[in-house]
Amino acid sequence: MFDIRPKLTSRIELGGSDVVEQMFAAARDPELISFGAGVPAPDLLPVEAMSRATVRAFQTFGATMLNYDGSYGLQPLRHYIATQRLAGLNIQASADDICILSGSQQGLDLIARLFLNDGDSIIVEAPTYPGAINTFAPFHPRYITVGMDAEGMKMDELEAALRANPDTKFIYTVPDYQNPSGITMSLERRRKLVALARQYGVLIVEDSPYCELGFDNEKMPAIRSLDDNGLVIHLGSFSKILSPGVRIGWVCAQADIIKLFRRAKEAADFQSCTTTQYMLLQYLQDNDLDQLIKNNNRVYRERRDACVDALADSMPGNVRFTRPDGGFFCWLTVDGVNTSELLMRAIQTARIAYVPGESAFANGGDHNTIRLSFSQKEPHEIKDGIHRLAELLK
Ligand code: PMP
Repeated sequence: MFDIRPKLTSRIELGGSDVVEQMFAAARDPELISFGAGVPAPDLLPVEAMSRATVRAFQTFGATMLNYDGSYGLQPLRHYIATQRLAGLNIQASADDICILSGSQQGLDLIARLFLNDGDSIIVEAPTYPGAINTFAPFHPRYITVGMDAEGMKMDELEAALRANPDTKFIYTVPDYQNPSGITMSLERRRKLVALARQYGVLIVEDSPYCELGFDNEKMPAIRSLDDNGLVIHLGSFSKILSPGVRIGWVCAQADIIKLFRRAKEAADFQSCTTTQYMLLQYLQDNDLDQLIKNNNRVYRERRDACVDALADSMPGNVRFTRPDGGFFCWLTVDGVNTSELLMRAIQTARIAYVPGESAFANGGDHNTIRLSFSQKEPHEIKDGIHRLAELLK
């Protein structure tokens, strides 16, 4: 085979992790209890309603659905996002403040393209979303990591990081039911974060696909809602509240940034799929998404309970874990165990899969953590899987 390696750019990370692909493969093995992929449960995806909406959308919108539309995305869909989703997070926005993206993952890529030169400093949580590290990697950022506790990013560490690195481009945070730790940033810390960003003149990237998945009906105000200086780039998505397959997310930010996103979006893929945007729009007109989210959150809450109860019952003394108030993830710290090395034995012997936490640390180093996603399995399977993990760790 022709060796392509000398032809590749310096932006390609050949050593990159295959952990996401391994997780999807593990999730397809029916014999295995996978706590891997952080995706909605298949039984909660609205198959019937979406297929009815698709037929109706074609009847209503016809050929328009099969054509180009524009790089900002469908105006009525942006209006829906502003008034029905963002308003609930206290964000005051109109359709003009939004650009539709092919998932919020694309938002991370476009942010990197717009804001990162080689070697630029960015601040990320430790741990952070591994998919963000993968997306930022080709732009060769210099990561400054800030630790977390039960209230989210530690503000004294953040302040020290900003003081030492005043040229930081942005602070990247997943403030709600964080992937991977399940931790939510407190309101006080959100306010402090905005104040620090303003003081040091640094942007904030608020990546929040899980913000509506709270188990206690209380929604934390978005960080963007606490800022009136245009510092916050807010990313949202239909992936976790409705369907990841439709690949529709959004960015909400100040006008200058939205204009830049439009240009970057046009360069990347012209626009998000017109057909899917109309399907989604019709679905949202014909169905009550708020009710669906409420029902789903009840199911996820039962699964969270099954997960933390089983962890409390069965884990040995060297294991600590978080108790998330929403979202899909529990985070385990296993003193003295390399969880990446343990994964193969977990899959082959215990017949369970998890995400080793190592990939969530931008500067590497931490080998003793595990992300468990409880969203996909029934409570009895969750309990069974956790007990198997406990036996393995013992
Ligand atoms: N950000 C975070 C924190 C995520 O967990 C995910 C999905 N795993 C994404 C962004 C990307 O989601 P999507 O592109 O499906 O909207």
